[in-house]
Amino acid sequence: MPLRLLKIGLRGADKEPRFFPEASELRESYDVVIIGGGGHGLACAYYLATRHGIRNVAVLEQGYIGGGNTGRNTTIVRSNYLTPEGVRFYDASVRMFQGLSEELDINLFYSERGHYTLAHSDEAMRTMRWRAEVNRHLDVDSQVVDREAVGRGIPGIDLDCGGSQPVMGALYHAPGAVVRHDAVAWGYARAAANNGVEVHQKTRVTGIKMDKGRVCGVATDRGDIRCGAVVSMVAGSTPRITEMAGLSTPIEIFPLQACVTEPVKPFLDTIVVSGSLHVYLSQSSRGELVMGASVDPAVLHSTRSSFEFVEGLADRIIDLFPFTARLRINRQWAGMSDMTPDFAPIMGTTPLPGFYLDAGWGTWGFKATPISGSTMADTVANDRNHELIQPFRFDRFTDFQLVGEKGAASVGH
Ligand SMILES: Cc1cc2nc3c(=O)[nH]c(=O)nc-3n(C[C@H](O)[C@H](O)[C@H](O)COP(=O)(O)OP(=O)(O)OC[C@H]3O[C@@H](n4cnc5c(N)ncnc54)[C@H](O)[C@@H]3O)c2cc1C
Repeated sequence: MPLRLLKIGLRGADKEPRFFPEASELRESYDVVIIGGGGHGLACAYYLATRHGIRNVAVLEQGYIGGGNTGRNTTIVRSNYLTPEGVRFYDASVRMFQGLSEELDINLFYSERGHYTLAHSDEAMRTMRWRAEVNRHLDVDSQVVDREAVGRGIPGIDLDCGGSQPVMGALYHAPGAVVRHDAVAWGYARAAANNGVEVHQKTRVTGIKMDKGRVCGVATDRGDIRCGAVVSMVAGSTPRITEMAGLSTPIEIFPLQACVTEPVKPFLDTIVVSGSLHVYLSQSSRGELVMGASVDPAVLHSTRSSFEFVEGLADRIIDLFPFTARLRINRQWAGMSDMTPDFAPIMGTTPLPGFYLDAGWGTWGFKATPISGSTMADTVANDRNHELIQPFRFDRFTDFQLVGEKGAASVGH
């Protein structure tokens, strides 16, 4: 046992400093209130303080930081999207992630693994070529590889997929990575708090206050707060907050489930996604296989897990990796995905002055944490949309300028 731990034990009280200075009392007013202490909310607070000098900021989190989708995702980071606006946006995020451990002074275990999106049909191969062209045009490292290269790159795979849907090739994206999700939330929280931001956990927003047609504060279960701007960054709870603000979006909430197996000897150092089979997996540093699939088929505001999910996922994963039939599932969980009709986020200013929205992150928003935080901070500081998020603006559904990211992958991660 380390000596330091023994000393703490003998003292009878834990004198260890807290990871970040926890705010106690709520003040009567702040310049900016951010609703949601997930990665996006904490990153936005950090960039408001460090890049724009706006430090009189409160992040209000109804539970604990990272307890929403940030702490429930399967941690895949990539930028091999289909649309130019998507590729530019996610590529900027990948680049920020690459230097984030140093910037936040915390080991995020950012691990570049390479990312294969398998194609099982001529149509899928055509989409992979399309994506590779768009990616390369924008300087993103993606290439189409043939069936033999897939076999060499992915140990243990059955290229015939049990005879059901043979693999024809794949889109290979070398920068594809995984990164510790809770460390991202805690790293941003500590760095934001060190720069003057207050992070209030167990503080639920229950209403949006307005005066003469603009936002002037929030109601919480700990009392009312005045503020100049409110930023909603609550992912799967978005409809509840937009309803409080009198705004309507096409977002619908679907559960998204994932699971991990018992640990096995490291064999897979890459990320594998099959859009046609609707499954994906990677191996964690502990040896567990981290696996997921598409969202559940029906709208539901719930984080319950279901046996149907594991049964359907196992059926398809065993086709791809027959040896997994012998593995046991250790844990299973779910998050609430805020899905948009065009598989792209809704970001920036809204028709309600002083109210900013960062939502529609569905199954793909963890990888956007740094760029979403920084572009939203810029948008709030200047009260106009940052150019990178302009394609994702609130009113694109009323003037029919949808993004059409749907083709990027059937399993949208
Ligand atoms: C199983 C699963 C796998 C996923 N895999 C990936 C992946 O591999 N790669 C990827 O890029 N994305 C993935 N995602 C999506 C990703 O997790 C989310 O898009 C992203 O984490 C959203 O971050 P956020 O900070 O916006 O929201 P969250 O992390 O959900 O944070 C929102 C916070 O708001 C709080 N809140 C809600 N209402 C209130 C209120 N009234 N008052 C105060 N606080 C409130 C919640 O408690 C929550 O903590 C996955 C999601 C799931 C569920």
